[in-house]
Amino acid sequence: MALIKLLDTHTINKIAAGEVVERPASVVKELVENSIDAKASSITVEIKNGGIDLIRITDNGKGIPKDEVEIAFLRHATSKIQTAEDLSHVLSLGFRGEALASIGAVSKVELLTKTPHDLTGKRVEVEAGKIISSEEIACPAGTTFIMRQLFYNVPARRAFLKTVSTEASKIADVVYKLALAHPEIAIKYIQNNKLIFQTNGGYDLQRCVFSLYGKETAKDTIPFHYEKDGIELSGLCGLATLARANRNYEFFFINGRYIKSPLLQKAVEEAYKTLITIGKFPFIILHLNLAPEEVDVNVHPTKLEVRFKESDRIYNAVYEGVHHHLSAENLIPKLTSLT
Ligand code: ADP
Ligand code: MG
Repeated sequence: MALIKLLDTHTINKIAAGEVVERPASVVKELVENSIDAKASSITVEIKNGGIDLIRITDNGKGIPKDEVEIAFLRHATSKIQTAEDLSHVLSLGFRGEALASIGAVSKVELLTKTPHDLTGKRVEVEAGKIISSEEIACPAGTTFIMRQLFYNVPARRAFLKTVSTEASKIADVVYKLALAHPEIAIKYIQNNKLIFQTNGGYDLQRCVFSLYGKETAKDTIPFHYEKDGIELSGLCGLATLARANRNYEFFFINGRYIKSPLLQKAVEEAYKTLITIGKFPFIILHLNLAPEEVDVNVHPTKLEVRFKESDRIYNAVYEGVHHHLSAENLIPKLTSLT
């Protein structure tokens, strides 16, 4: 008997799911990103029991055509890119076609979806990677994705989950960042039947901060906008009163995607240097709009890290933009001439 055999699709999906679906928060992130890519103007996120028992994401986006719903659950099935060349100018949040297949492989899924121009939509149920029911139904335009019992068929992974409150706080972290990334979308977050926050979907980032963190925080921020050779920065700079002892309130978004970036961190902290004391970090929400060719988001499956083509140019623009703004607002004391 041959020793080396090709794994079957279900096994491959179950293994691969580990990369995309680490915990409930990763499911929430993937699903809300799909809603954003579907151009939803309103998204509701509901979770129960730290998202382990239930995650329900409802959007009013473009829906999935009836005859494509089952394909969407196949690994590497995506409507967002067609060839590897498309990767260099991808603007959607997703493009790997892995989320639905991965989530479907390790939980129980119910999906209801309808496109705006179809009269009826479709409801499918997926369990452990298999479509177990599929029917035509009447439902509103958009998509509702319900995930139940994460890792019910992968006990080893389930055992690795943290407490319900830790998982819930990781989800909140994801949802807050998605809301800050997309102030143009009305996002509602409900945890165990309790409304945690609701943004109103205007483009106003300061109002969004008000909805998420309250009036006291929002009033100590100043909006800014800066443009320099093809790089566009905008966002909110926090006053020194909002400085913290950790970097939890430094938010960086590139083309609507939350990212981690030591480079942007450094540029911003340098710009704030004379304004806040050593050991403290600014409150800043920085949205960077760049030509997609300038940045590679395909570094890691979670797309949290990016690679800039010309990092010096980005660093300088961010430093100058933020510094210029802080000085213009007279937050940074200007050096007065001695003569
Ligand atoms: P990706 O986002 O990388 O394309 P996914 O596995 O997340 O891969 O989704 C597969 C496909 O299913 C998407 O390309 C999209 O066409 C469709 N899809 C998933 N979620 C939604 C949604 N909420 N609204 C509309 N289409 C969706
Ligand atoms: Mg996706």
